[in-house]
Amino acid sequence: MILIINKNILNKIYREIKKYDKIVIARHIGPDPDAIASQIALRDSILLTFPQKKVYAVGISVAKFKSYGSLNHPNYEELNNPLLIVLDVPNMIRVDGIEGLKYKSILKIDHHPKEDIEGLVDWTDESKSSTSQMVTELILNTKLKLNAKIAENLFLGIVSDSERFSLKNTSYETFATVSSLIKESQIDFSSLYEVLYTRPLSEHKFIAFITNNLIVDENKFAYIKISDQDLKDFNVDAATPSNLINGYNFIEEILVWMFVTEDVKNNQYKISIRSRGPIINEIASKYNGGGHKFASGARLTKMEDVDNLIKDLSKACQTYENK
Ligand code: AMP
Repeated sequence: MILIINKNILNKIYREIKKYDKIVIARHIGPDPDAIASQIALRDSILLTFPQKKVYAVGISVAKFKSYGSLNHPNYEELNNPLLIVLDVPNMIRVDGIEGLKYKSILKIDHHPKEDIEGLVDWTDESKSSTSQMVTELILNTKLKLNAKIAENLFLGIVSDSERFSLKNTSYETFATVSSLIKESQIDFSSLYEVLYTRPLSEHKFIAFITNNLIVDENKFAYIKISDQDLKDFNVDAATPSNLINGYNFIEEILVWMFVTEDVKNNQYKISIRSRGPIINEIASKYNGGGHKFASGARLTKMEDVDNLIKDLSKACQTYENK
């Protein structure tokens, strides 16, 4: 069987990239492996293909992702109307590191449901497992170049966002794209799982803490409120729970589950929600959040709102079960 790719949009993106000698690549705040991997891989591929271009990957650096490569923030005062490439984020308010940037045009590549960002060249496709899958398709089907490091990053982004090809966003296309990526680059992909899944024992003890303290209600909705003290007790940060939440995907008694994490630094509660049935992003969007149908998030400042969200999600489970 032949993989059918929308070549038009890929060629359009390639031509847009080719046109600019300065390019800034941004992704969402609180990056995950897909955001970081797609951002660094695309920057490195553009630089490999067009060494004379100035290409920057911007946003806050996260220590645990340093093996993917480093970011390179330019002085925006000295940058004259670059192309802004926005990856893995649909809303301007969640784009990291572009304050003060005056850009000429936006090129967007994203697999989230569409929100306010509209690129002059825009490739938004909810059916893709990950933004890394989209960047892989772009590189493999245009003159953009690939090397082993770029391929490794893309593999990590796809595996992470599809939770090892187990989530509903994984398709035949995902496997076909990964197959071509491995064939083309000859990377030793099995050793890469270590990068994503090797954790200190303290984090495993934190997983046990979450499991032991999850509250599961009669509608198959589960949640836990994780305090700053809990994070300190297990020596983990406020970003850790959202990296662990996919691991609760196959629990018989749970349909929708939510982690509420106290984020003292930003004076807010970080909410991560996952679902094996009910659509949750519409509910999250009522609470200053959003995301995918079965993987959403929000940021709340009042516990009252958190409690209302808990009620809404539990009700959605009840409705789903009674269908
Ligand atoms: P997380 O649980 O942080 O991994 O987020 C799951 C999904 O929800 C991601 O695709 C995010 O893009 C989305 N998301 C998380 N937080 C927010 C937010 N505050 N607003 C909109 N979307 C969000």
